[in-house]
Parts: sequence; structure tokens; C-alpha cells
Amino acid sequence: MTDINLTAILYEKDDLRLEDQPIPEPGPGQVQLTMAQVGICGSDVHYWTHGRIGDFIVKAPMVLGHEASAVVSKLGPDVTTLKVGDRVAIEPGVPCRTCHFCKSGRYNLCPDMKFCATPPYHGNLARYYVHAADFCFKLPDHVSFEEGALLEPLSVGVHATNRAGVGLGNTVLVCGAGPIGLVNILTAKAKGASFVCVTDIDETRLNKAKEIGADFVVRVANSDPLKVAEEIETVMGTKPDITIECSGAAKSIQTAIYATKSGGVVVLVGLGQDIVEVPVVNAGVREVDIRGIFRYVNCYPTALAMLASGKINVKPLITHRFKLEESVKAFEAAKRGEGIKIMIECSRS
Ligand code: NAD
Ligand code: ZN
Repeated sequence: MTDINLTAILYEKDDLRLEDQPIPEPGPGQVQLTMAQVGICGSDVHYWTHGRIGDFIVKAPMVLGHEASAVVSKLGPDVTTLKVGDRVAIEPGVPCRTCHFCKSGRYNLCPDMKFCATPPYHGNLARYYVHAADFCFKLPDHVSFEEGALLEPLSVGVHATNRAGVGLGNTVLVCGAGPIGLVNILTAKAKGASFVCVTDIDETRLNKAKEIGADFVVRVANSDPLKVAEEIETVMGTKPDITIECSGAAKSIQTAIYATKSGGVVVLVGLGQDIVEVPVVNAGVREVDIRGIFRYVNCYPTALAMLASGKINVKPLITHRFKLEESVKAFEAAKRGEGIKIMIECSRS
């Protein structure tokens, strides 16, 4: 196979191929990017194994990948903010910029969002890719491409903790210690949370949570969410002011509500079943606010500033590294649930 622009394309469920593609040319306001690092996200794996996430269905071949960094290799017309050779992190969702949500500053809610590797839009697990210049963020020299790619999940943590209102001295519970739970530990701590407690059903994930700064961990073994909530209160010595639910598991969402202090906040980050039974009266009479989040909005600059200043370290999240040519192997490792964050290097050997 020639390798002009080797690209990881999902044809349909269980059919991920590496194929050569033409090198894309940047249009007005766009840059051509020589891809550096792409992290595998649970959603990439889910599209590969299920061919869909909810109403987003892979109906035509789609390039995977959306947690990415790159080098600018060509400028389209009218691009003034970047130059060839700039190292950048790519914010993967480009909104319409004109609707009510975009204009009011909540572009993550834009109904016309074009988001990498969310059907029908291509991702960037390839040698070359084209993206809107204003959704590329220049990386300082000392921020690595791997860290640049991890700005994507880190931004989810920035947004979730923003929506939760985490502040100085708050006690925080994070449910689920996957990559998203872990970035929420990092952002909650960075925002001044006093104690962060983390739950998971998996011991190795809890060990990683401890490694990156969780103050307490609770391994969920009991199937009764009320009992788990009691356990959390015992371990923390208090009910948490804020709970950030990052597993999507129904029982864990129930635990999140029971566990949270009256007057507190539960943020639902995890996305599991469409319809989940929750103790809504318990939340209602205790004035526990339940808030959703969708990805992130205006969070890349904050996430980057926190990495560049050394206030947040995402490097411990990276457990596996593959080359673009080995993408299928990388996805198989992700499917087996190995490690935390699997990175794919896209530059030619
Ligand atoms: P992941 O599957 O790697 O992590 C989930 C973790 O939850 C796992 O470690 C798992 O062992 C743990 N878990 C399962 N059941 C549990 C229970 N009962 N109690 C406590 N922990 C339990 O996934 P991830 O990549 O970390 O993403 C987490 C969730 O966030 C997913 O549902 C994903 O779809 C969602 N997500 C949402 C947004 C958004 O914008 N809302 C963005 C990114 C990811
Ligand atoms: Zn819009």
C-alpha cells in the first residue's frame, strides 16, 4: 500500500481499515495539519464495536479519532493566527457560529456542530487532516504532543467542574475512575477541592486515581446504592458538596444522588442507558441540583494554561503507545479495557 495519507477508516461495525487517502487541502479559514498524536476515546471504540452511539449511526465510512495534536503544514486563505510549523492541539468540534447557542457562548449545544469522528463527520486518525484554524490552539514548546492531545479529555474535566461550581475547600466525589473520572480528579483538585473521593468497581483504576491525587477511594462492591453512599460518607467523614458522575452506570447515578450533601450538586458526565431510574424525590426534597454536561465550551485555553503552567499533569494517564500503522492493535487493546489512555503516533516512522 502506498502511504501518502495513511488513514484509519471505520467502514462499519467491526470493520476498521487502514487505507491511503489523498492529502486534504485547506479551505478558507482552515489549516492543513500533519497529525502528531491521537488518543483513543471510549467513543471511538464504541463506534468500532457497535457501529453507533445512540442516534449517531455510522452509515458511511468514517475516519476515527478526535483527541489530537498536530503540526500546521499549510495555511488556507485568510488564516492569520497560525503559521506553518506551529504545534497545535485540535479542538475537535466546530460549531455553526451563527445560531442562538453559538452566539450566546454555549457553542457545545449548537445543533449544527461538526465534531470529529461523530457521524457523519470524519475524525483525524491519519497522517494529514484539515481543520478550522480558530479551533487549533498553539502549544508552547514545552508542552508535548501527547499532552496536547489530552487537552481534549482534560477539557471535559474543566467543563464538568465549571458546571459543578467546584471551588476552594469543596469536598468532591468522583464516580468512576476511567479517563474522564481521572481528569475530573485533576481539575477538581486544581480548583481547590479539599478532599476528593473516587469510586470504581475496578481496583487498578482506583490505584491510578490515588496515584494522581485522589484523597480517598471506595471500591464499589455492594449493589445497594444507599449502602455505597453510606460507605462514602464514612470514608470521607462527610457527604460531598459536589458529585461528578463519570461512569454512566445506573446504580452509580443513584449513589451519586444519595451521597451528595443536601443543597449540593450532582453533575452527570457519564452517558449510559437512555432512561435510568433515579431517586428523584430524595434529590428534590434535599435540593440536590442535577446538571448535565456536554463535552466542553471555551475550555481548551484553560486546560492548556493549566498544563503549560504545570498546575495539572496528565502524563500519568498515558499507559500505551502505538504507531498509526498499528491502529487496529491499539483498538483491540482499548477494547480489552487495558490501561487508561492509549496514544497513537501518526508521524511516519
Ligand atoms: P470508562 O468506561 O473508561 O470509565 C468508566 C469507569 O466507571 C470504569 O473505570 C468502570 O469500571 C467504572 N464503573 C462502572 N460501574 C461503576 C459503578 N457502579 N460505580 C463506580 N464506577 C463504575 O469511560 P470514560 O472514557 O472514563 O468515560 C466515562 C463516561 O463519560 C462514559 O459514559 C462516557 O460516555 C462519558 N463521557 C461523557 C461526556 C459528556 O460530554 N457528557 C464526554 C466524554 C465522556
Ligand atoms: Zn451554532
